[in-house]
Amino acid sequence: MHNRLICSATGESLPIDQLQNLGPTGKPLLAEYDLDSIKAGFQPDNVRQRDARSMWKFWEVMPVDRMSDAVSLGEGLTPLIPCEKRGPFAKYENLFIKDESTNPTGSFKARGMSAAVTRAKALGAKVVALPSAGNAAGAAAHYAANAGMQCFLFMPEDTPPANIIESVFAGANVFLVNGLISDCGKLVKQGCERFGWFDLSTLKEPFRVEGKKTMGYELPFDLERAPGGHGFQLPDVIFYPTGGGTGLIGMWKAFAEMEQLGWIGPERPKMVSVQAEGCAPVVKAYESGADHATMFPNAHTVASGLRVPAAVGDFLMLNAIRESGGAAISVSDDELMAGASEICRHQGVCACPEGGAVWKACEKLLASGWLDPASRIVLFNTGTGLKYNHLLKVGDLPVLDHNDPNCLDQIVS
Ligand SMILES: *Cc1c(COP(=O)(O)O)cnc(C)c1O
Repeated sequence: MHNRLICSATGESLPIDQLQNLGPTGKPLLAEYDLDSIKAGFQPDNVRQRDARSMWKFWEVMPVDRMSDAVSLGEGLTPLIPCEKRGPFAKYENLFIKDESTNPTGSFKARGMSAAVTRAKALGAKVVALPSAGNAAGAAAHYAANAGMQCFLFMPEDTPPANIIESVFAGANVFLVNGLISDCGKLVKQGCERFGWFDLSTLKEPFRVEGKKTMGYELPFDLERAPGGHGFQLPDVIFYPTGGGTGLIGMWKAFAEMEQLGWIGPERPKMVSVQAEGCAPVVKAYESGADHATMFPNAHTVASGLRVPAAVGDFLMLNAIRESGGAAISVSDDELMAGASEICRHQGVCACPEGGAVWKACEKLLASGWLDPASRIVLFNTGTGLKYNHLLKVGDLPVLDHNDPNCLDQIVS
């Protein structure tokens, strides 16, 4: 068997060596590799011995013939931070934060864009385009810049300023749109038809998933090095803040590949999809037993990564959540902001609102009795809190007069 693309809905196979977007029936295409032929030389020990400093350490299951073909800025290989048993975190025995804030451009979108831009460049694309309400824009702008490609970005007007500024600064052609990310997506689609751009929208090309799946490959290597003697295994529960679902679908795919490679057995982590109350299409579909989600009306949340009212990969997410025995749960914006603050204060990890959301979901599922506090739990902090400074208020800080010899008198220590 050779590497190929497979339609996630019909199983139809398509060539992997051509630029492809959605499959013939409008559903996502996923990459399939000839795992049997690489199995012998691609075992955990081979990976352990590599000193590569990026997710391309796993290049055999990525869209390249060799590691050096990657458009890479050092993405992935993020730390798995064991939570200190402090404050509300004291209740858990084996709680970890996979801290994606250390990625280039400050979010795990770097993983997806590194893989997608690598592949688009190799197959001859000159201009890429996508809609983004947040971190995908900055990541695309920087990877396109590194690859020497032009990048067109369509962003809702109320996208966090940091995401807009970083994209403009990296040389992308940025357009603000008076609508939601789905409205931006429609403009991208028209632009691609009209100008021949290559569409990098979430799950509308096959390789952002490939980049994000490396989070799944990293987890057992992270856990075996973590304190507590966990060995080379997957966590029991994964909390994932879900927008388009690329990471959830990607990790689920990674686990299947890892089993086929003989790295792990059939057991899987419970996948918990976390969304914001103001935009929870996957939670709604999960609760109603539906296979597909419906467009979530009036989508709103400050967690811009979760503001995806309709996702083309909805059925793949719902399948992974259900097959894993996981759950789907939403939290309010107040809760997720409080959660981000707790992670920062008690653990020192610079959490984004989306990271705050998974922590609060974890607390809710513990309170409901669903979650065993002794289980190995991984919370994904998917980006840096620094890009959300516009949401934070620190009040008026005292200004000290350094010429006043008594200026420290007001301090109570
Ligand atoms: C994009 C994004 C998400 C959602 O990721 P998906 O894999 O598309 O579901 C979560 N958090 C942050 C910070 C993001 O930028």
